Amino acid sequence: YFVNPGQFGEDHVSIGGEDARHIARVMRGKPGDKLIVSDGVSREALAEISAINEGVVTVSIIENLPMTQEARVKITVAQSLPKGDKMEIVIQKCTEIGAAAFQPFLSERTIVQYDERKESKRLDRWRKIAKEAAEQAHRNIVPEVAAPLVWKQLLKSAGSYDAVYFCYEKEEGLQLRSAVAPWAARLGDAAEASVLVIVGPEGGFSESECREAEAAGAVSVGLGKRILRCETAGMVAAACILYETGE
Ligand code: SAM
Repeated sequence: YFVNPGQFGEDHVSIGGEDARHIARVMRGKPGDKLIVSDGVSREALAEISAINEGVVTVSIIENLPMTQEARVKITVAQSLPKGDKMEIVIQKCTEIGAAAFQPFLSERTIVQYDERKESKRLDRWRKIAKEAAEQAHRNIVPEVAAPLVWKQLLKSAGSYDAVYFCYEKEEGLQLRSAVAPWAARLGDAAEASVLVIVGPEGGFSESECREAEAAGAVSVGLGKRILRCETAGMVAAACILYETGE
């Protein structure tokens, strides 16, 4: 179970809300049962239920566990906001595959509107989906889901990554696999790398967006001969990168 870092004490953790209900009602937890708790960032531990009282489950920490489930390559999936519930699919599936973060954005052909003041519920829902998918995939961390940016803001952030791949449906030259393979082979055991993968909306990217992305340091890459749905492309890209780095 992922809990807020503030709930993590030195030797115990208090679990409330939906997780407490899940432990008590769905799992029928009782004192003595063991479970794994994580702060979703840097600490994970094996623990034992010590008490279940009025919607709060208290667990005693038995031992801290090594964080072994995360890839050294930290992939941020930047997805131009798709229609309907497709962003939820992107977050759920890419979390299972191993993405480290999500950055939704709005580009020239994005169809849906996003009004930050009205849509905090949507962001909360995406974060809940990331947490649930991370739990089911036995991740050590919960991928961060950032609030949507506009295209120019996204490109400004590109400089902070070790590699930036612009998934371009019209790219007939360089394929993602060939772009990743040379540096993946050089990635030492201890090294980490941050990668931004940029995926377009239903209508794809314009040629000027491709030029702007390249000017910001992104490498335009293809994902094979077939055109993938916008919700599929991020999954394929994340899986391809982690395959090449052996993770
Ligand atoms: N019209 C379909 C839809 O509604 O989902 C396809 C959309 S495709 C144009 C959306 C995005 O997925 C593209 O902008 C690109 O980022 C990525 N993509 C899909 N197929 C790709 C490919 N073969 N190579 C590179 N990127 C691809």
